[in-house]
Amino acid sequence: MTYNILILPGDGIGPEIIEETRRLMGWYSANRNLSFSTSQDLVGGCSYEKHGAPATDGMMKKALAADAVLFGSVGGPQWDKLPFDKKPEQGLLRLRKDLGLFANLRPALCFDALKDASSLRPEIVSGLDILIVRELTGGVYFGLPKETTVLADGQKRAVDSQVYTSHEIERIARVAFELARLRGRRVVSAEKSNVMVTGVLWREVVHRVHDAEFPDIQLTDILADNCAMQLVRNPKQFDVIVTDNLFGDILSDEAAQLTGSIGMLPSASLGAKDAHGRQPALYEPIHGSAPDIAGKGLANPIATLLSFGMCLRYSFGRSEDAALLDKAVEQVLAEGYRTGDIMQPGMTKVGTAGMTDAVLKALDKLAA
Ligand code: NAD
Repeated sequence: MTYNILILPGDGIGPEIIEETRRLMGWYSANRNLSFSTSQDLVGGCSYEKHGAPATDGMMKKALAADAVLFGSVGGPQWDKLPFDKKPEQGLLRLRKDLGLFANLRPALCFDALKDASSLRPEIVSGLDILIVRELTGGVYFGLPKETTVLADGQKRAVDSQVYTSHEIERIARVAFELARLRGRRVVSAEKSNVMVTGVLWREVVHRVHDAEFPDIQLTDILADNCAMQLVRNPKQFDVIVTDNLFGDILSDEAAQLTGSIGMLPSASLGAKDAHGRQPALYEPIHGSAPDIAGKGLANPIATLLSFGMCLRYSFGRSEDAALLDKAVEQVLAEGYRTGDIMQPGMTKVGTAGMTDAVLKALDKLAA
């Protein structure tokens, strides 16, 4: 089977880190009986420069036909003053919307070698392995009305609307429970059912899905504000956290900080499976385009390499191959290789390509 992958390097450090992912894909084709057919296109600021839009219909057509999209990063100060609909980030939002990517998976995993890089004490984060499942296409970022009006007395009044249907909650809950079955079989559902009616519906629907389809999974409710506190108090109590778009945005960034560096964390966004089991999917590092270090060969490629690992696991069902990559990264860090963002005294400083060299060498050794 040949997997059809669309590669979208984007802006800033995007092309540099995606180049390293191509090398990693080359290793997997050569050594693990995997075959990829890739095409590449523009997204974000570079697409605006060439086509006047951050995402084109042509690119979207390729994305819709692909088994998976590998995305680098978009944005940069040169495009900050563009009108809202031309901004690079709109390219990513269009991909999420048109592919129907309603489930955002963000693992927060602390590699043992980096436990001192966290702002929390090493014993609190050592061995941390959380998966945050965030609803991505509903809630307050998309709910209507969403408007600013001028009142009779001249004041301005702005409204965002938190809106959820039971269908939207059901499908994200199902994703979380299914993923929990592949992990520690525990799900914590975070909402604000004490003050929000969407929270009341959220809790009701998550329990209905749980009781009917996933009684083997341990389900616990938590109020989102308490969840934020527990994440810094005792993060290892969590296995899978499922939550809405707004709370997920905040809680997943908080969880990312627990692990030490933004350059280490991958993410996946998944859509609904069709009748043939095909599921739209986009994989990307959680960091942005890092204009301050772009073009210098300094970026940490690990978040993007691990995004490909998530692709192996979730789009291609190759968990063993994904685990091999996790092990290789763990080993490289234990051997002391560090890019600038995770540099510690006494370690070996490498650049973007040097880090990938080390990961490929570790894979060679592990696969031998
Ligand atoms: P950023 O993540 O790009 O950078 C924050 C800091 O982390 C910078 O100091 C950067 O050098 C460092 N950093 C990020 N990734 C790194 C890596 N792989 N290796 C080493 N260091 C790394 O966030 P920002 O500075 O707030 O945003 C820069 C641009 O990226 C903006 O235009 C923003 O809109 C865009 N952005 C894009 C995405 C995306 O494409 N999904 C996400 C966030 C921000």
